[in-house]
Amino acid sequence: MSTKLNPKFLRNQGYINGKWIDAKSGERFMVYNPADGIALTNVADMGADETKDAIAAAHAAFPAWAKRTAGERSKILRKWFELIVQNADDLAALLTAEQGKPITEARGEVIYGASFIEWFAEEAKRIYGDVIPSTGADRRFIVLKQPIGVVGAITPWNFPSAMITRKVAPALAAGCTAVVKPAEDTPLSALALAVLAEEAGIPPGVFNLIPTSTPAPVGEALTNDTRVRKISFTGSTAVGKILYQQAAQNITKVSLELGGNAPFLVFDDADIDAAVEGALASKYRNAGQTCVCANRFYVQDGIHNEFAQKLADKTAALIVGRGDAPGVQIGPLINAGAIAKVERLMGDAKAKGANIITGGGKHDQGDLYYTPTVITNVTADMEIANTEIFGPVSALRRFSTEEEAIALANDTPFGLAAYFFARDMGRVWRVMEGLESGIVAVNTGLFTSEVAPFGGVKQSGIGREGSKYGIEEYVEIKNVCLGGL
Ligand code: ADP
Repeated sequence: MSTKLNPKFLRNQGYINGKWIDAKSGERFMVYNPADGIALTNVADMGADETKDAIAAAHAAFPAWAKRTAGERSKILRKWFELIVQNADDLAALLTAEQGKPITEARGEVIYGASFIEWFAEEAKRIYGDVIPSTGADRRFIVLKQPIGVVGAITPWNFPSAMITRKVAPALAAGCTAVVKPAEDTPLSALALAVLAEEAGIPPGVFNLIPTSTPAPVGEALTNDTRVRKISFTGSTAVGKILYQQAAQNITKVSLELGGNAPFLVFDDADIDAAVEGALASKYRNAGQTCVCANRFYVQDGIHNEFAQKLADKTAALIVGRGDAPGVQIGPLINAGAIAKVERLMGDAKAKGANIITGGGKHDQGDLYYTPTVITNVTADMEIANTEIFGPVSALRRFSTEEEAIALANDTPFGLAAYFFARDMGRVWRVMEGLESGIVAVNTGLFTSEVAPFGGVKQSGIGREGSKYGIEEYVEIKNVCLGGL
C-alpha cells in the first residue's frame, strides 16, 4: 500500500520562465516507484530546444535578479526555505515514491536540502569584496565579487531534492539564474521544488527546470551556449568527464561532484562499537546509494573478526521493505541496472574467494531489493574492491600497519570521503593528514552539514558545495584599478 501523494506537488510539465509547459514534441516519459514498479506519472520529455528557451529566459532574467540587493534576494530565498519546511511531509512522500528511500531518510533529505537555502539566504549578505593596500599614491585596487551569470545544473537521482538546492541556493543568493536538469529517474522532487519557488516569489526565468529522459542533448545545449557561464554537476565520474570536455570549448567554469570510493579504516585502538555504529550509518544510508557511503572497509588484524561479527549482526537486523512502510531502514535500489551491478560485483567476489557472513543475494521483498550484506576476505583483484558498489554490501579487508592502511586507502583514483576510527591522538593526526580526500570523518559515520564544505579531490571532482566556500563557485572576482586620484 502506498502513501497518498499531494496533487499540488505532483507536476508533470517542465518549468521555464515561470510557466509550466509541455515538451514541444509532445513527448512524455514515465516515472516509476522503485518499491513496486508502478508508474507514478508521465512527465514532459524535453530536449535541446526547450533548454535553449530556458537559457534565454535565465539570461533575460539575470540582470534584474543580479541588481536586486542581497537583502531582497535573501528574503525570497528565506521564504522558499520556510515553504519547503512547512511542506516537508508531502515532499518527503513524493521523494520516497520516486526514489525509494525510507520516509524518515526522505524527510531528512528535504530538511537537509532546505538548510542550504536558509544558509545561502544568509550568506547572500556576506559576499564581501576587498580593498587592497595600494602600490601607488594615485591609485587604489578594489576587488568586486559579482554573480557569474546563467548556471546550468545537472543533478543525480540519489538525492533528488538536496542536490538541487545545494546548487541553486548559492547560485540564486549570489545573483545568478539557473537552468536545472534533474535525473530521469527522479524529476518529481525537482518539479515540486519549483512549485514552492514560484510561491516564494522567485521571479520568472530565475529558476528553470528541464525534465528529460535523454540527458545528453540537454547537457550539450547547456555546454555549447556561451550565455551559460557555469556548469555545476553531481553524478558519475564518467559523465563528469564528458561535461568537463564539453565545457572546455567555451572555457565554461565547472563544479563537479563525482563518484567516490570511500575507505573506512578501523584501527586496533578504535572504540569498536562506535565504529560499528559509524559503519552502519555510513554504509546503509539510502541502501548504500550515496557517493560518500563507505565502500572499502579496512580493519586492523587485532580487531578484524570482532568488528566483522558485530557489523554482520547489526546488518542482519536491518529492516528491508518499501520506503513508505513504518520502520523500514533499507528500501529498494533505484532500478534494474543498479541491482544487476550489485549482483555482478558479488558474483565476482564470491568466485574469487570472498566469505559471506550475512546476506549475499536478492531480498524476497521484490525485484529491486538486495539483502544487506557483509563479506570478508576481499582482495585487491576483486571488482568490488575497486568499484563504487552503490548497494547495501559491506566489503571487508584486513591490514596490519598504519602505513599500509593509509596506502590502501589512497590507492584509488577517487578522493571524496574517507572515514576512520582510532583513539590514539598521534595516529588521528597522521591518518587525517595522510588521507587523499576532500572530506575525512574521524570517529563518526555522518558528517554532512550545510555549514561545512563538501567536495572531492582527484577524480572525485572540482569545487566545494555548502559552507562559506560554496558561494564562491558562483561569483567572479573583478579587480578594479582606480587610477588618477
Ligand atoms: P548515475 O550513475 O548516478 O546515474 P549519471 O552521471 O549517469 O550518474 O547521472 C547523473 C546526472 O547526469 C543525471 O541527471 C543524468 O541524467 C545526467 N547525465 C547522464 N548522461 C549525461 C550526458 N551525456 N550529458 C549530460 N548529463 C548526463
